[in-house]
Amino acid sequence: MTAIHDLHSHSSASDGTQRPAALVAAARAAGVDVLALTDHDTTAGLDEAGRAAGEAGLRLIPGIELSCGWERKTLHVLGLNIDPAARPLREGLTELAALRTARAERIDAKLAKAGIPGLLAGLRAELGPDTQITRSRFARALVAGGHVNTPAAAFTRYLGRGKPAAVASDWPALAQVTSWIRAAGGVPVLAHPLRYRLTASWLRRLLTAFVATGGQALEVVCGRGNPDEIRTLALYASRFGLAASAGSDYHGAATPWLTPGRLPPLPAGLTPVWSLWEAA
Ligand code: AMP
Ligand code: MN
Ligand code: MN
Ligand code: MN
Repeated sequence: MTAIHDLHSHSSASDGTQRPAALVAAARAAGVDVLALTDHDTTAGLDEAGRAAGEAGLRLIPGIELSCGWERKTLHVLGLNIDPAARPLREGLTELAALRTARAERIDAKLAKAGIPGLLAGLRAELGPDTQITRSRFARALVAGGHVNTPAAAFTRYLGRGKPAAVASDWPALAQVTSWIRAAGGVPVLAHPLRYRLTASWLRRLLTAFVATGGQALEVVCGRGNPDEIRTLALYASRFGLAASAGSDYHGAATPWLTPGRLPPLPAGLTPVWSLWEAA
């Protein structure tokens, strides 16, 4: 029996709905053997998750999902099996936290201008200082305040590109975040490569740049795993010599359509990303 891996998940340290310990319990209950906690731009949930994993008999891979910029697009790079204490990563996360704070303040100011004041103050009171505020938090607050019916509508009406509370984000460069991950002993994985809506030629350019900057794997199976997408990504992984990762991107109750670890198998012939740390 091969171990069930789920290498992409979120806790309340970013925009998941469950505390790290509850996330680990949910993953274990769903049969996951190896779980990576990959919160957006923070490692604040890893200690609690690690303790819970020890008790539950599940292996926790310390991870992160870093926001970065490449050719004026925002990308997400997972860092798997990182040492969260590594100095360059810590410095990078301080920079990212400052960017996120400034961005949240600009979103809040734009929402106030659109007639919806005070959301950020409410989020801060609710979440405390250790939670990275993502746009999904604003989306849920907009739902809770009765301004929209669903988080998706919050993006279409307020937070998405070209909408009243959209802000351009000056994330660190792709090469920068891969170097932080490598310096922390981790494996950089390009997350959900088909979600950036790139043409095939742009995706090839991106993968060339990703490999050149130290990227090592592609998230070939993500979310519920559409078979066509898996086939496409498997081809890219082989062509670019990248290992293959699999993760649900589970966010607790915010992704009710997902179950941790319930993922199609990696296509045959690919190098599973976990072989990179199992061999070490
Ligand atoms: P941020 O990193 O602050 O820009 O927030 C991005 C997060 O918002 C993503 O990780 C998703 O969880 C969520 N998100 C982005 N776009 C949408 C959308 N159209 N509908 C619902 N959630 C979204
Ligand atoms: Mn998210
Ligand atoms: Mn992502
Ligand atoms: Mn994610």
